[in-house]
Amino acid sequence: MSAVLNAPWIARQATDLLAQRGHAWLLQGPSGLGQYDLALAMASAWLCEKPTAQGACGECPSCHAIAVRTHADLEVLMPETVMIELGWPLSEKAQDEIDKKTRKPSKEIRVDAMRDAVEFSQRTNARGRGKAVLVFPAERMNTITANALLKTLEEPPGDVRFVLATEAAHMLLPTIRSRCLAHIMKWPEADEALTCLSGQGVPAPVAQALLRSAGGRPTDVLRQAESGLSPEWWADLPKAMRQGDARHLGRFDPGASHRRFAKALPRSGAAPVRRGAEVF
Ligand SMILES: [Zn+2]
Repeated sequence: MSAVLNAPWIARQATDLLAQRGHAWLLQGPSGLGQYDLALAMASAWLCEKPTAQGACGECPSCHAIAVRTHADLEVLMPETVMIELGWPLSEKAQDEIDKKTRKPSKEIRVDAMRDAVEFSQRTNARGRGKAVLVFPAERMNTITANALLKTLEEPPGDVRFVLATEAAHMLLPTIRSRCLAHIMKWPEADEALTCLSGQGVPAPVAQALLRSAGGRPTDVLRQAESGLSPEWWADLPKAMRQGDARHLGRFDPGASHRRFAKALPRSGAAPVRRGAEVF
């Protein structure tokens, strides 16, 4: 499961943004710089019971509820494929339809999910720290879902804050962009990205090679690392790259992580918690 990236360049940006007021943020910039991680860091800090200037404490019941994906005051709006990949539980109805093979996980943010989010923003918060809606990747909203979100952004119920993250801000409705404070994602220093990738278990020489090929975008490298590649594959990669062996890259299977996460998710009926369920 993808953990939140605990990286210095994300932490610096979180500190900067949390020092500013704003009920809706739009994090934008190229993919792979940790948009999702920064968005989650901000939502966590807003809901944390003992936040510091640096962000969420990571230890209170609220932080714990976010870590186990069951916080009643956090609504996550993502395409179902991304929710599965990042380990967020789907709504009971959506999970049931996918289990019964009525349909496949959606690649865009569904209208149903947006309706849930609108309803969520009108509810009273459960833990006394307000509520947060996280939208990622925001460009995967269609016109209907984007308009529903816009209405909520225009007339936000008092205690809800929004953080949208996108690598394609130009694809969003201009009216959504203008309702949000914009933040352009900052690039990590090269050594920060390498240290972070090593900390996630990617061997240093491989991290260096992959960072170069990923244009210096560390979370793109991590996505590849989570795609089920074996240590042998990593070890053989530099040699294969030197020799221009394309067959080696052919063994890379970007769908593997998706299938692995899907398998790891609780089945209908057996799941102890669902989105929106309060367990603490
Ligand atoms: Zn906390």
